[in-house]
This record gives sequence, C-alpha cells and structure tokens, in this order.
Amino acid sequence: MHVAAILKAKGRAVETVAADETLGTVVALLAERRIGAVVVSQPSRPIAGIVSERDIVRMLARHGAATLALPVSEAMTRDVVTCRETDTLDELMSRMTEGRFRHLPVEDNGQLVGIVSIGDVVKHRVAEVELEASAMRDYIASA
Ligand code: AMP
Repeated sequence: MHVAAILKAKGRAVETVAADETLGTVVALLAERRIGAVVVSQPSRPIAGIVSERDIVRMLARHGAATLALPVSEAMTRDVVTCRETDTLDELMSRMTEGRFRHLPVEDNGQLVGIVSIGDVVKHRVAEVELEASAMRDYIASA
C-alpha cells in the first residue's frame, strides 16, 4: 500500500500555522482538531517546520506557562522529513522509527499535499494484514 491510498481515505487537509503565531494558538488547534502536530507554513515555504505536542511539552518544562506566549519559531523542528504519495507504508514506518517521530507531511513538487501520522500507518497496515490473512484462509479452504 502507498501513501496515496491513505490520503484517498483520510483526505488532504493539513492544519498549518505561521512561524510568528504563538504556541498558545498551536495548543488550541491541537486540542480542537484532536491532532498531535501542525505544519509550519510560510507563503514562500509551505513546509518550513513542524511543531508537535512533544515540542510543546519540552517548552513547558523549560519556560512554564510563559510558553503559550512564545512564537512557534522557538519550538518548531526546521529540518522536516517528508514523504511522497508513491512511498510505501513500509518506507514510512522505517522513516518514522529511524527519525523517532510520528508525523510525515506529504510533499509534491515542494507543495504540502497531506500529512500521515503513525496512527494512519498502523490503521492501514492492520487492514492490509487482515486482508492478506483472509485471502490466505480462502486459498487454503479452496485447496
Ligand atoms: P512526534 O513524534 O511527531 O510528536 O514528534 C517528535 C519530535 O520530532 C518533535 O520534536 C517534532 O517536532 C519532530 N518531528 C515530528 N515530525 C517530524 C518530521 N516529519 N520531520 C522532522 N521532525 C519531526
């Protein structure tokens, strides 16, 4: 299975923020949308960074409640690893494991066209394994 199949099922909407918005805005967005990360986008750079709940926790440990007024640029990871629609789930799983992160923005020609979380990958992988097992059972039963 490829990233394109995940996007077909979940859609291509991605929550984004600008680097000069506050971390308070990000916290509200994460809670409201029930997501774990937002992509930091600038008009000239659609994938300029990523901020996840882990970044917010790290900032809270360092700055306490003052974190909420700090700009996104202080907490975001700038070197964003991305994936493409043609990548397989296996490739995504190894990229997430190696990088120790749970989100991969989907890039096409420098544009942000979706985002895949570890939850999406696990959900589709489990469905794929169940399908394989059922095909195998049918094959054995008909042999
Ligand atoms: P996560 O596991 O996605 O909550 O993120 C853990 C850490 O990795 C945080 O510091 C994120 O900013 C960072 N991170 C998340 N996704 C990516 C990504 N695709 N590329 C680079 N860093 C990331």
